[in-house]
Amino acid sequence: MIKLFFLGTSSGKTSIKRNHTSIYFQFDNTNLLVDCGDGISKSILQNNIPFNSIKNIFISHLHADHFTGIASLITQMKLENRSDELNIYVYKSFVDNIKFLLGSTYMFEEIIGFKINYFPLEFENEVFVGKDFSFITKKNSHIKKKNELINYSNSFFNSSSILLKTNSKNIFYTSDIASTEDLFLFKEDKIDIIISEITHITIDDIYEALKLYVPEKIYLVHYDDNIENNITNWISSQRLNDKIVLAKDGMLIYY
Ligand SMILES: [Zn+2]
Ligand SMILES: [Zn+2]
Repeated sequence: MIKLFFLGTSSGKTSIKRNHTSIYFQFDNTNLLVDCGDGISKSILQNNIPFNSIKNIFISHLHADHFTGIASLITQMKLENRSDELNIYVYKSFVDNIKFLLGSTYMFEEIIGFKINYFPLEFENEVFVGKDFSFITKKNSHIKKKNELINYSNSFFNSSSILLKTNSKNIFYTSDIASTEDLFLFKEDKIDIIISEITHITIDDIYEALKLYVPEKIYLVHYDDNIENNITNWISSQRLNDKIVLAKDGMLIYY
């Protein structure tokens, strides 16, 4: 059984009523926390997930609403006397950024009391976090344009979308993207569930994804407070309530 837990659904804009987007997946006896933005420790507490039960963390890119909460999360694990190893999966050139952030908050491995295993990711390689639980990342164009403005290493502007695979369902999570094309990154795959952001693309793009993938369900996340009503109204007006769901913080789904 897959447990799909929406810990936060807000966009990069901090919201009083919702946390930044983060999703917790549990399958068999393992789990994967996808993205660790600002405030993640509070989101985890609000949803009654013990900090030290988290086994694997994936970070899609380095915007603050997806990444910077890792320092406070590791701090909470230390304060709860964690002893189990923790696995962190991130695009290969971002490993040093994470180590630097943790070091900048004194969360050195010699201090925290548990081992962190870093798994430097290559795009399009399948990575197993459990016997029947794996994922594949692909590069999307979310922060590609920044590369034209700033003279910096190309790979620093990489951002990942992720396909989670179990022996029962394939779940495509866009994370932050920038175009309709990014929605179709996994068009060769059978997709059962889509979790898509809805800040950098339009609801019409989502409709195209619905037609192409024909998934069981599309969950929308990463939205501003001021577009919440528009999205809800659009879904109703198109009579797509059974197909497209505007996810809410704390929403828990089992498959
Ligand atoms: Zn974001
Ligand atoms: Zn972003």
